[in-house]
Amino acid sequence: MKTNNKLVVITGASSGFGLELAKEFAKDGYPMLLLARRVEKMEELELPNTICRKVDVTNKEEFELAVREAEAIYGKTDLIVNNAGVMLLGDLATQDAKEWKTMMDVNVMGVMNGMQIVMTDMKERRNGTIINVSSIAGIQPFGNHAAYCASKFGVTGLTRVARGEMSPFNVRVLSIMPGAVSTELLGHTTDKNIIDGYNAWKESVGAVNITANDVAKTIKYSYELPQAVSLREIVITDTMQDA
Ligand code: NDP
Repeated sequence: MKTNNKLVVITGASSGFGLELAKEFAKDGYPMLLLARRVEKMEELELPNTICRKVDVTNKEEFELAVREAEAIYGKTDLIVNNAGVMLLGDLATQDAKEWKTMMDVNVMGVMNGMQIVMTDMKERRNGTIINVSSIAGIQPFGNHAAYCASKFGVTGLTRVARGEMSPFNVRVLSIMPGAVSTELLGHTTDKNIIDGYNAWKESVGAVNITANDVAKTIKYSYELPQAVSLREIVITDTMQDA
C-alpha cells in the first residue's frame, strides 16, 4: 500500500469497474472523488473520505470544478482513473451517427478532459499517475465494434503520446485494456441481435468468469507500484477468451 494516501479521482464510478475500484481504494482509506451522472449510485456506497459528484465527463467545466473542489479538501490529485465509457455496438453501414458521436465524446474527449485537468499540476510536482481505461478493442478489431474500436484505439494512441510527454516529469501514464467482462456496459447497445450474439460468443468460449473486481484490483496494483515503475499497458481478459 502507498503510505500517506493522496487523492484518487475515478470517473464512471457508478457501476462496473469504477464502482469496484472505489470499493477497493476505500478499503485502504484513500480519499476519493467519484464522478458519474448517477450520483445516487455512488452515494449509496457511503464510503469514507469520499466526495461524489454528478459530472458528465464531456463537460470539462463541471469536471474541473469537481476536481478542484476535492483538491481543496484533500490536496492535489495523485491518481486519476479515466474509466467512464460507453459501448454502443453497431454495424458501420447502418448505425446511427449519433451513437458514433456519443462514443467519441465520452470515450475520447472525456479521457482527454480528465488528463488535461490534472496534467499541469502533476508536471509541476513531478509526480502523479494517470490511468486510462482503453480496451482490447483499442488494439485489435472485433465485429460490430467499428466506432467503439475507433474510440478505444484513440485512447490507446493518445495515452502513448501523453506517456512520452509526461515521462520527463516523472508522471506515469498507463492504460489498461480489458477483454469482455460482465458489467452494465453491453446493455446500452441498441441492437438486440448484437447483444445476443455477443453474449452467445462469451458463453460458447466460456469467457464468463473474470469479474469487474478483478480488473479493479489490477488497476489498483499498477498504481501502488513505486512511482519509478510504469506498467505501461495491461491487457487483461478471461483466460478462456479466444480473441
Ligand atoms: P459500465 O457501463 O458498468 O460503467 C460505465 C461507467 O461510465 C458508469 O459509471 C457510467 O455512469 C459512466 N459514464 C458513462 N457515460 C458517462 C459520462 N458521459 N459522464 C460520466 N460518466 C459516464 O461499464 P464498465 O465498467 O464495463 O466500463 C468501464 C470502462 O471500461 C469503459 O471505458 C469501457 O469502455 C471499458 N471497458 C469495458 C469492458 C467490459 O467488457 N466491461 C472491456 C473493455 C473496456 P453514469 O451512467 O452514471 O454516468
